[in-house]
Amino acid sequence: SAPLAESDPEAWDIILAEQARQRRGLELIASENYVSAAVLRAMGSVLTNKYAEGYPGRRYYGGCEVVDRAERLAQERAKQLFGAEHVNVQPHSGSQANAAVYMAVLKPGDTILGMRLDQGGHLTHGSPVNFSGQLYNVVSYGVNPETETIDYEEMARLAHEHKPKMIVCGASAYPRIIDFERIRAIADEVGAYVMADIAHIAGLVAAGLHPSPIPHCHFVTTTTHKTLRGPRGGMIMCQAEFAKAIDKAVFPGGQGGPLMHVILAKAVAFGEALRPEFKIYQQQIVRNAKRLAEKLADAGLRIVSGGTDNHLMLVDVRSAGITGKVAENALGRVHITVNKNMIPFDPESPFVTSGIRIGTPAVTSRGMTETEMDFIADWIAQVLFNHDNEELLAEIAGQVEGLCERFPLPGVDA
Ligand code: PLP
Repeated sequence: SAPLAESDPEAWDIILAEQARQRRGLELIASENYVSAAVLRAMGSVLTNKYAEGYPGRRYYGGCEVVDRAERLAQERAKQLFGAEHVNVQPHSGSQANAAVYMAVLKPGDTILGMRLDQGGHLTHGSPVNFSGQLYNVVSYGVNPETETIDYEEMARLAHEHKPKMIVCGASAYPRIIDFERIRAIADEVGAYVMADIAHIAGLVAAGLHPSPIPHCHFVTTTTHKTLRGPRGGMIMCQAEFAKAIDKAVFPGGQGGPLMHVILAKAVAFGEALRPEFKIYQQQIVRNAKRLAEKLADAGLRIVSGGTDNHLMLVDVRSAGITGKVAENALGRVHITVNKNMIPFDPESPFVTSGIRIGTPAVTSRGMTETEMDFIADWIAQVLFNHDNEELLAEIAGQVEGLCERFPLPGVDA
């Protein structure tokens, strides 16, 4: 058949344009990454054609003998990578993984204790605009106003007061180590389950650079596309006693046919994560984040909680006299992509915010190290402190493009 460029030039042009955008700019969105050519290949494969409701060896469709191998490969590699007793690789997304865990052990109206969205938690941890906030009775914990780190004492107090059936931990915008052991101890005092959502830090956990929640938490969910560097998707890990309940909650509970091409791509990504190079890659992500945070602080920008232990940082852009929205737009004009983000106790609305979230997984996949972080920090600081200086912005945009030209786009150019 004709290649896409001939059969549908309009669609082909979109791919080329997005490729060019990704190649030209510095991707600092903490939840994004560039997958390898191998992961891309698995995703763009004929496995997308196959219906496979059910699980390997017990499907509701014929002809599943080959895709069964894909799912088993993904399961085995995930178990090896994280040391999990049971894994379900079918969730289409992180949100669906979380929904399945709730469905497995909670009833509508049950109480969950989750991290506040405006202090780093995810929508699915109990936000009122999300199914989690609508189906369950939500109590939220946050960070200590002084240290801007998780307030475990508040968590314990709220747990004793509200007796949640589940404590949800893990975050979308939290730069510090999460103490899963301590959270489990709090949960045990009140007889609650613990779900750790490691969507952001999964790669660091796999590489042993962040303490693993697996020994402490009943359920561990993740996305596969952030630090883990796999295809977009979700995954659930749990202790063996919950295996059946989790599998039922994913299918038929919340989903129909699994995306077998994505499951194969998950297997490929887990295979990559099992190689020694992956640990070196994750170490560089952390080193790059630390360096960037230090340099931004040196330039006069306040870093929430004073720094970072992981792949991301929150920058309080009020130190440059602007809002997160202005910062995001100004950086966008020099081809540096970040997202505006609430900082703890933010006086601004979520559409404006006082902060930006910056992460290093994608630029590290591109091969950048501390040397490049120094340039990037300098450009970010110059843009934030001079956001309306058009001449300066144009000059920096050229410098950003120059840097990006030296680093091939993973999966495409290299
Ligand atoms: N959990 C956390 C902590 C996240 O940061 C995210 C994504 O941003 C998700 C879950 C949801 O993942 P998805 O966008 O695949 O539904």
